Amino acid sequence: MSTPDEHDLAALRAFLAERDSACPSCGYNLRGLQSPACPECNQALKLQVGLAEPRLGHFIAGLVGLAMGFGFCLIVGLWGLFEAPRATMLIPLAAGVIVIGLSLLAWVCWRGKLRRASDGARITMVIAAYVLSAVFVSWFLAQAK
Ligand SMILES: [Zn+2]
Repeated sequence: MSTPDEHDLAALRAFLAERDSACPSCGYNLRGLQSPACPECNQALKLQVGLAEPRLGHFIAGLVGLAMGFGFCLIVGLWGLFEAPRATMLIPLAAGVIVIGLSLLAWVCWRGKLRRASDGARITMVIAAYVLSAVFVSWFLAQAK
């Protein structure tokens, strides 16, 4: 009886027996490989299952929306602090950095839930990310007048 490691090695050998496949580390062609390591760069190799379509579009779209709001609050907040420190401007910026920053953290931590959600729910979440950023930027701009 073979161990799981021996079974994985046999599957890796069978996969590479008749396929041209580049080492993910150095690009060396692994066709016909017998050991579970790249002969060129010596990195350990394993056979694994990947997604045919990673569905990262919604994740990246929301990430960009939140990152723009976060970046605006952080950069304009720091600039405002040095140029004309006014409490009315700094409150929306500080709140924006905290709220959008926590939203960014949640967005990254819960990306799996977003991936499993329905198309409608994912689009709603992406729109919410942009609305959240727009709310804090608008709040700041209203105070900066
Ligand atoms: Zn390699």
